[in-house]
Amino acid sequence: MTFEPTLDFARQLDAQDPLRDFRQQFLIPPAPNGDDSLYFCGNSLGLQPRTARAAAEQQFRNWEQLAVEGHFKGETPWMHFHKRLEEASARVVGAKPVEVVVMNNLTTNLHLLLISFYQPTATRYKVLMEGGAFPSDQYALETQVRMRGLDPDDAIVELVPRPGEHTLRTEDILAKIAELGDSLCTILMGGINYYTGQVYDMAAITEAGHAVGAMVGFDLAHAAGNIPLHLHDWDVDFACWCSYKYLNSGPGGVSGAFVHERFADRPDLVRLAGWWGYDDKERFQMKKGFRPMRGAAGWQLSNGAILTLAVHEAALAIHEAAGGMEALRRKSELLTGYLEFLITRLSLPKSRLEIITPQDPAQRGCQLSLLVHQGGRDLFEHLMGVGVIGDWREPNVIRLAPVPLYNTFEDVYRVGQVLAGWAHQAE
Ligand SMILES: *Cc1c(COP(=O)(O)O)cnc(C)c1O
Repeated sequence: MTFEPTLDFARQLDAQDPLRDFRQQFLIPPAPNGDDSLYFCGNSLGLQPRTARAAAEQQFRNWEQLAVEGHFKGETPWMHFHKRLEEASARVVGAKPVEVVVMNNLTTNLHLLLISFYQPTATRYKVLMEGGAFPSDQYALETQVRMRGLDPDDAIVELVPRPGEHTLRTEDILAKIAELGDSLCTILMGGINYYTGQVYDMAAITEAGHAVGAMVGFDLAHAAGNIPLHLHDWDVDFACWCSYKYLNSGPGGVSGAFVHERFADRPDLVRLAGWWGYDDKERFQMKKGFRPMRGAAGWQLSNGAILTLAVHEAALAIHEAAGGMEALRRKSELLTGYLEFLITRLSLPKSRLEIITPQDPAQRGCQLSLLVHQGGRDLFEHLMGVGVIGDWREPNVIRLAPVPLYNTFEDVYRVGQVLAGWAHQAE
């Protein structure tokens, strides 16, 4: 598409947008002047669906009227509540229902999965991850490695971009996997790097990891609900994601976990267990000796956090109504492409502002990361002051993520105007 830098053009794209009505289903926080803010932070916390409150209230009512009986009675018995989310979650990540479960929070799930899928031996004990991964992932791996009596400096191998580059080349990732060979136990990478917005080639990484006998997993915090995923077909071993970024399920909302079907009937796989992962036909017989449910559900520890699960169910319903990931992705490529076009048009020298997210749409999702070499913090404060909500990542990156469910081309145009004003003023 040939973009034009005019309000008319942006409005024309909005008028043609098959997803335009979905914005009405979200609550948009006000800007300082009372208008709707330009919310470009759905990569950090997605907006509140209008249906979220009613979904939680329904469960408050069940608790009020049924109390403990709510586990078995009412329209949505709590006992089986997590199953209500299985199919929609499976579609979000390209999995079979038996391969997914919604439980806990993201970092907790990462630990639970690493317990099972990082099983080092004396010779095969290395873990490969991207350098500069989200801190929680770094700390999770560091402590998992220490827990096995290993030295993180020796066991953890980090991939870094070539000098002068900001993102990783797939060829370099694959070469490192081959080089580590028999010493490589597990690969854990983001599906999308939170800082640069780069999408990694999960299919190729998984294939290369399996070729050397390693387990391969992804943290999909920035990928779930953002880009199409095919975890089952890519043959990924394990993955987890959060529900509060692109899946709009509220602060600290529940997380999802994926375990490939080939492990569905592997009760022998090492894991940390709890009663909710016990075979549900016999769970309440309270027997000695752990017998897991089939599939990912066998990794559950505790009975479900119903209030947040209910909100997640409501948010997933919007995702489904929009036509799922393929429909969202079509709009997303245009929205992010339009933002890139408007920023590129400013012709700022690299020494001032540089987009470090890959230009190739296949290698990015919604987010663009702007590396601002001078006055980055001032620009960020300026954006927030005029109602553009993005986020700041130390030392000098502003992340802006137009989200296809609720952002408009006009939103993007207006952000472009604010950036243009800043660029000229600073000249
Ligand atoms: C957002 C994010 C987290 C957050 O973890 P929580 O356990 O949900 O607090 C972890 N890892 C990555 C890669 C993230 O983007």
